[in-house]
Amino acid sequence: MRSAIVVGGGISGLAAAWQLRGKADVTVIESDQRIGGKLRTGTIGGVPVDTGAESIMALRPEAVELAQEVGLGPDLCDPATAPTTVWTGGHLRPMPAGHVLGIPTEPRALAGTGLLSDEGLARLCREEELKAGPLPRDTDISVADYLAARIGQEAVDRLVEPMLGGVYAGRADRLSLRSAMPRLAAVAEHGGSIIGALRRVRAAGAPKAAAVQGVRGGTGRLPAAVAQASGARVLTGTRARELQRTASGRWRVCAQTADGPLVMETDAVILALPAHAAAELLRGHSPAAFEELSAIQHASSAVVTMAFDRSRTPSLPEGNGFLVPPVDGHTIKAASFLSNKWSWLAESAPGTFVLRVSVGRAGEEQELDVPDRHLIRTAVSELHLAAGRMGEPAAARVTRWDRALPQYGVGHADRIARIGEAVEKLPGLEVCGAAYEGVGVAACVATGRKAARRVFEG
Ligand SMILES: Cc1cc2nc3c(=O)[nH]c(=O)nc-3n(C[C@H](O)[C@H](O)[C@H](O)COP(=O)(O)OP(=O)(O)OC[C@H]3O[C@@H](n4cnc5c(N)ncnc54)[C@H](O)[C@@H]3O)c2cc1C
Repeated sequence: MRSAIVVGGGISGLAAAWQLRGKADVTVIESDQRIGGKLRTGTIGGVPVDTGAESIMALRPEAVELAQEVGLGPDLCDPATAPTTVWTGGHLRPMPAGHVLGIPTEPRALAGTGLLSDEGLARLCREEELKAGPLPRDTDISVADYLAARIGQEAVDRLVEPMLGGVYAGRADRLSLRSAMPRLAAVAEHGGSIIGALRRVRAAGAPKAAAVQGVRGGTGRLPAAVAQASGARVLTGTRARELQRTASGRWRVCAQTADGPLVMETDAVILALPAHAAAELLRGHSPAAFEELSAIQHASSAVVTMAFDRSRTPSLPEGNGFLVPPVDGHTIKAASFLSNKWSWLAESAPGTFVLRVSVGRAGEEQELDVPDRHLIRTAVSELHLAAGRMGEPAAARVTRWDRALPQYGVGHADRIARIGEAVEKLPGLEVCGAAYEGVGVAACVATGRKAARRVFEG
């Protein structure tokens, strides 16, 4: 049987290994002591909680289908229904239903919410009267540059920016419209009002199911289930350091383990790594791939998970959490009220209220450059400001995610195409992961499976 080595045991690499089951003898090597990458379930106060990704996209099928195929179908669950809420102007303010990544499809419903000033709302409402030519297909532009001209700067700052902070830890003035908001780019290609177009899309088929799902017991269960179902050999604590081409055209992977170096030969290699790690391994094989991959920036963030004793907590917040616009000048960028959001969690620990707060956007690394106890202090005091005094957490823990979220800058899609061309010149090698065609778990699963389908072609 042919052999393949998948470098990187995050969800992209594991999806690739799963795709190759029965078709190749697969080894996954992972530098960390555990597989899963940014999917991780830990515990706080004895309660299981996700400290990395907490949900998977359900509007696109790949991650949900994979979870079902590896036996987690019965454990998939919807979050509680609650409006997206923004902490702004000193209050938690729910957004009216029907927005697309913060762009309201019914702008007038924002009246009286306090989300926008009167001028900001009036500007937003004018969008449908503004003339707009189609965005040329070969053009990219930043989300802020495109949207500010359509819906006004204030709506970008207060409605769209908090969403991008939540998904990408990114900034509207740097993120690519085409790669970070592809649905919107597709609408922009037709020209005319984007609000009108998004409203028509919604009216034609508003999704009936929840946009995301979780896994009972933690979405971090997914990687182990995929690894097991794949039948692949998994080597943790094994860092790939170098790739070599053998005289016969196979690949040699030189890795480091706690017991010393490990050298393996294989027919195919899939690099399922953050862009900077993939760049290093390709440096000697493709200067073009090295350069393009190295140019992809990554944002760091931290998740502060807290457990409150319900019997000692004066008042508990309602809803699923909130997002924070950077213009309001706070350190935290989002909070997720896990015990409200996931019923399995509330049922498994009825006496405990668990939530998580995230900190860190692209370009705000200094916010993270403090000891854990400072981050916890800031998270608690801003949480009190936003959601009311909840008292002190019984337990709190910081999980740091350094250089974790790739930033899809303007021109990202072209860069990815150039990386694809460079990698095509390396037979038996493919790349996949969050850096390429979507940072969400579903997109990562899609790239992993695509890489596995292609690696033995050509
Ligand atoms: C805090 C946070 C919250 C998120 N929340 C969500 C969410 O709710 N929903 C969602 O859809 N997405 C979410 N995301 C995004 C999503 O989780 C990630 O984009 C996705 O899991 C990345 O998977 P990956 O396999 O491509 O990369 P990774 O998870 O980064 O996996 C790559 C693996 O490669 C390993 N590695 C690196 N170098 C080497 C080497 N030289 N040799 C061997 N192994 C190596 C790493 O240790 C890592 O395990 C979140 C991300 C973060 C950081």
